[in-house]
Amino acid sequence: MQQKNYEYINIEQKWQKKWVEEKIYETNKTKEKKFFIHFAYPGVSGYLHVGHMRGFTYCDIISRYKRMTGCNVLFPAGFHASGIPSIGFAKKVERKDKLTIDSLKEYGCNAEQIKKLTDPLEVVKYFGNVYVEDYWKKFGFLIDYNRVMSTISPGYKKFIQWQFLKLKEENLLIQKQHFAPFCPNCGPVAVDKSETDISKGGSSEILEFTTIKFKMKDGTILPAATLRPETIFGVTNMWVNPDVKYVKAKIDDEVWICSKEALNKLKYQLDNVQPLNETVKGKDLIGKTCIIPMVNREIPILSGPFANPNVATGVVMSVPAHAPYDWIALGEAKADILPITIIDVKGFGTNPAKQVCNELKITSQSETDKLDEATEIVYKKEFHTGYLNKNCGSYAGIKISDIKDDVKNEIISQKLATPMREFSEEVICRCGEKVVIKQIPDQWFIKYSDQKLTEQSKKHVEKMNIYPLEYKEQLPGVLDWFDDRACIRQGSWLGTEFPFKKGWIIEPISDSTLYPAYYVISKYVNSGQIKPEEMTEEFFNYIFLGKGKPKNQVWSEIRKDFEYWYPVDINLGGKEHKTVHFPVFLMNHVAIMPQKRWPQGIFVHWWVTQKGKEKISKSKGGAEHIAQAATTYGVDAMRLYYAHIGSPFVDVEWDSEAVTKYKNKIANVYKLILQLLRVENVEDENLDRWLKSIMNRHIQKIVDAFENFDLRVASNEIFFECQKNLQWYIKRGGGNKKILNEFIDSWIRLMTPVAPHLSEELWHKNKESFVSNENFPRFNNKDISIEDEVGEYLLSELINDANEILKVTKIKPKKICIYTSPSWKEQVFKRAIQLESEGKLNVGLLIKETLSNPDMKNIAKQVSQYVGKLPGEVKKLNENDKQRYSVDIDSKKYLENAIGYLKKTFSCEIKIYNANDKDIYDPANKFRFAIPLRPAIYIE
Ligand SMILES: [Zn+2]
Repeated sequence: MQQKNYEYINIEQKWQKKWVEEKIYETNKTKEKKFFIHFAYPGVSGYLHVGHMRGFTYCDIISRYKRMTGCNVLFPAGFHASGIPSIGFAKKVERKDKLTIDSLKEYGCNAEQIKKLTDPLEVVKYFGNVYVEDYWKKFGFLIDYNRVMSTISPGYKKFIQWQFLKLKEENLLIQKQHFAPFCPNCGPVAVDKSETDISKGGSSEILEFTTIKFKMKDGTILPAATLRPETIFGVTNMWVNPDVKYVKAKIDDEVWICSKEALNKLKYQLDNVQPLNETVKGKDLIGKTCIIPMVNREIPILSGPFANPNVATGVVMSVPAHAPYDWIALGEAKADILPITIIDVKGFGTNPAKQVCNELKITSQSETDKLDEATEIVYKKEFHTGYLNKNCGSYAGIKISDIKDDVKNEIISQKLATPMREFSEEVICRCGEKVVIKQIPDQWFIKYSDQKLTEQSKKHVEKMNIYPLEYKEQLPGVLDWFDDRACIRQGSWLGTEFPFKKGWIIEPISDSTLYPAYYVISKYVNSGQIKPEEMTEEFFNYIFLGKGKPKNQVWSEIRKDFEYWYPVDINLGGKEHKTVHFPVFLMNHVAIMPQKRWPQGIFVHWWVTQKGKEKISKSKGGAEHIAQAATTYGVDAMRLYYAHIGSPFVDVEWDSEAVTKYKNKIANVYKLILQLLRVENVEDENLDRWLKSIMNRHIQKIVDAFENFDLRVASNEIFFECQKNLQWYIKRGGGNKKILNEFIDSWIRLMTPVAPHLSEELWHKNKESFVSNENFPRFNNKDISIEDEVGEYLLSELINDANEILKVTKIKPKKICIYTSPSWKEQVFKRAIQLESEGKLNVGLLIKETLSNPDMKNIAKQVSQYVGKLPGEVKKLNENDKQRYSVDIDSKKYLENAIGYLKKTFSCEIKIYNANDKDIYDPANKFRFAIPLRPAIYIE
């Protein structure tokens, strides 16, 4: 019969519509067990790509599985609209950025809509709608859509302000001087790996240089910045770039000469910086001298074309005995200057830099890789085993590893130097401007360094379910390292106003810590049962902390909901959250909530990358639109792709060919099931029992995998192994309608979490309910029939062996004779397995034991040959095989039942013999080779 194709687009849309119409996503508090899962809500920065759907899909698969196991599941979602992304987007629309406008048009926005998107609030509204309608609903997610929320809604802002009141009460809000990333166009920005605000430099760190003031004859300061201020004693000269135009500036009551770029940075870091409209050519400085502060030695200024105006001050101090770069530069400058050794290291001569440069055969400044290596070698050795020597005044004799900030503090306190901060790599704002570091004298911080908070959080990690385990092991270290976080910014950001400083906004990481708790309330806000005005400190104190009394029935209901749903069972998010979001999510709960409301679990997933291991990003091109991918491949195919293509804990490469294979897989399963629903009824006792048994094996394995959130193993079992066994059943001539229907019924339910649309469509071929609301199959021990499993295994292995022989010998068989193993071998094999499990398998003893049976005496030679091989055979077995060998089945009888199938398979005559003791004397000795589950085969 002609099979209809699987019309996935119509089918998927049909079920999505019905699920939403029937509101099957709503929670139902009548059930006993609850499960609260959410994903780290996405920022509102534009269209998402197929990579984002990986984590969202995991969340839906897990939550659907939990629903079907009888849990009452809360799976809410929202948007992280705080911060700068939507403002950045609106700005791009305003300046008619071509890529942005094109992407909007391509998505179907008309001119009028595009015009609206110059308003950041409209951007949030627009993309909020795209995420819900075009991504989550179109992927069939059973998110509780009654609870959708945004971080810039009035209620959420009240919630955030309450949190900061609580942090203050706990003495976890503090003020201190701060140096923060700052964009001259946009104001403060966050530099972190999630790159919310910036377009480049997310892993950059702020390095603290010591800028040492070298004084020239006329009193002008030539500042040079270093990370190793103790090397000041070994400075022999200065390097300035002859081709750079340096500038002068008045800083406090001094006049400095530095690069223009340096002055731009210093302006943001130091007080009282006044540019003096005066430039100095680098080449005019060369040949002059200056004095090393504290050391009071006069040194020459030399030409160093490598002095980069973009790095620190653009002026470099030279320490040729300890800095390989300086040593080589000095050689190339042909200057007549002697290096000064200030650090003694065992094994290094008087000039460590020279020695390492010679060893690595470095001759030119252009060999930067080798020079970096040399610098590293010298630095490490000096740090671990070096001492400052007699050239270092009062510091002589101090170990380098002990010196820490001593020299730095001294020269800074004497005003002979000042700190200067610099990024470890360039940071570019989303607006395109270079990000600088700016001083804020009284910045507010959340005090994550608080010892009690850190210890409590670390201790709680031990009790949490964290996937993967590797992250659970890392997290305490991350918490230790996690420093105070500047939590407010000034400028035009979306977000909540800081309650203790007017005009300052709480930054986006700090307003997304406790947010799952707000999902409990958002439902009541969305339905209008509670108004933001009513959400006072008293309200939140009652809801979350159980303090005070409810003002009305709604308060009581919300409190009950909170007590029922909280804590969060799983917070799922991408690996970019490991060092920022997850730590603050945990610590803020510990800081504010009662202990029994602290999070129970975290699930981290890795990324979908593009070819070449890059994170997918639109700026780098090539990402497919989600809605487009959904129609090209089908939603279930994509869901299966995410679940099956690799472990959640590795990056996977987006591969449209692979997704197409999953698309075909979905269509094949559909066709197969339709075909099976129409088979003619045939019964075969063994085979039918086998199918039931094997289905239960699958169920056991799948449930185990789901319980450990191992979606890859679960989906492999469901979509590949189940089908394989079902095909075997059909090939073997199975066709018991009742058993098949049971199998299909279970199979569809097993598929539902991963491929809900396909499952719903197949389920409705003969049922009325939603399979999404059905129970997940359960393992049933009484349906297990090991004998039949072993029998089918025997048969399939026999066929493999025979095929192997036919392949090698190229015989076209007329007759195949099969000789099953004599029963004594089965008994001995079983005994050997038992002895091995007890650690007592001994060949000599086993032979003796076997020969104690008088009937065996005649075949003593065979017994000893056979038993001699057993230890090796037994060792090769896995647990499944061991179980198979320890079952008694009548192999001959089993194969005789399948003789029709064997005949069909080989198209020839089949003879089956059983070796009884008498047959052992068969002159052809064919039985000698028959062992349990491996009959001997003779082909004529
Ligand atoms: Zn900017």
